[in-house]
Amino acid sequence: MEFDTSIVPPSPQQLERAAALLKSGEIVGIPTETVYGLAANAYDPEAIKKIFLAKGRPQDNPLIVHIDILERLNELVSELPKTALRLADAFWPGPLTMIFPKSEKVPYETTGGLDTVAVRMPALPAARELISVCGFPLAAPSANLSGRPSPTCAAHVYHDMKGKIPLILDGGECEVGVESTVISVHPDQVHLLRPGGVTVEMLHSIVPTVEIDDGVLHRVSDNVKAASPGMKYKHYSPKADVIILDGSLEQFSAYVNEHAADGVFALVFTGEEQAVSVPALPYGRIDDGAAQAHGLFSTLRELDERGAKIVFARCPVKKGVGLAVYNRLIRAAGFQVISL
Ligand code: AMP
Ligand code: MG
Repeated sequence: MEFDTSIVPPSPQQLERAAALLKSGEIVGIPTETVYGLAANAYDPEAIKKIFLAKGRPQDNPLIVHIDILERLNELVSELPKTALRLADAFWPGPLTMIFPKSEKVPYETTGGLDTVAVRMPALPAARELISVCGFPLAAPSANLSGRPSPTCAAHVYHDMKGKIPLILDGGECEVGVESTVISVHPDQVHLLRPGGVTVEMLHSIVPTVEIDDGVLHRVSDNVKAASPGMKYKHYSPKADVIILDGSLEQFSAYVNEHAADGVFALVFTGEEQAVSVPALPYGRIDDGAAQAHGLFSTLRELDERGAKIVFARCPVKKGVGLAVYNRLIRAAGFQVISL
């Protein structure tokens, strides 16, 4: 169906309007502190199908289910490990998604056919308010077309979803800017499937062992079953060919200047713009992973708007939120990293 997509503030009236649409089986663009989501009633298989259709998302890539209060977790899961409750206590509401055995109430459309369900409680109050007005949990992947950079403001959602959805709630710029941390929980151990705003260091403060899945830093080969289906897909990509250059700033500028040509751009840390002879877009200081996470996706979108054909990118430091930045950037680069 072709919609006349409206962008509205998350006022009490507009939250009611969004909830009415969601209750009637429609999908809506919503703000969270990570990235914008494309939301549907997590229990309504027909509404869930509309998400996959609007995004062009592969059917086996499961969705994250969002809750407003801890009590709502009980109806979604068939088991609630103690470690998960401790993590929820420490990091919810916030950018942490945990994987649980699913209850019968959750349809397989939502979980991509898996017997597990991914759940998180978003920190942005408007997102939780919407869920409580609805009275049901919202399944919401990022509100971009599949494969494109995730949206971090309402205009990005509009760009990708115009005509495909009736409504976008505009909550301003997303504070974190990259998707949530995804983990599976075991007694005294968590397994990190996707790094995000809740860092390895933060998880370590609650559980003794944090195991980082191979797919976080490396390409998952086609013949291996990914622990998290989303790992195996090309992701977060601008139209340009992105190549990460791993080395010092001096080595980076020498390499880029040697390869300068029409359509060649540089993705650099803030303050480094003058180091190269091609147009350079900054997205955060070298030692500030949180700022890089906040700026990465909008800068990747801007590179498209500027007509970039080749983008040489500085290599993020893989610590703290920087690990999430590196994880997204190597996927945007299709794993092309050149060691200088
Ligand atoms: P997105 O909704 O676009 O942020 O992507 C959700 C991510 O969570 C994808 O990488 C999924 O593969 C992952 N995910 C969701 N549910 C599960 C699950 N039950 N088991 C493993 N990974 C999951
Ligand atoms: Mg996504």
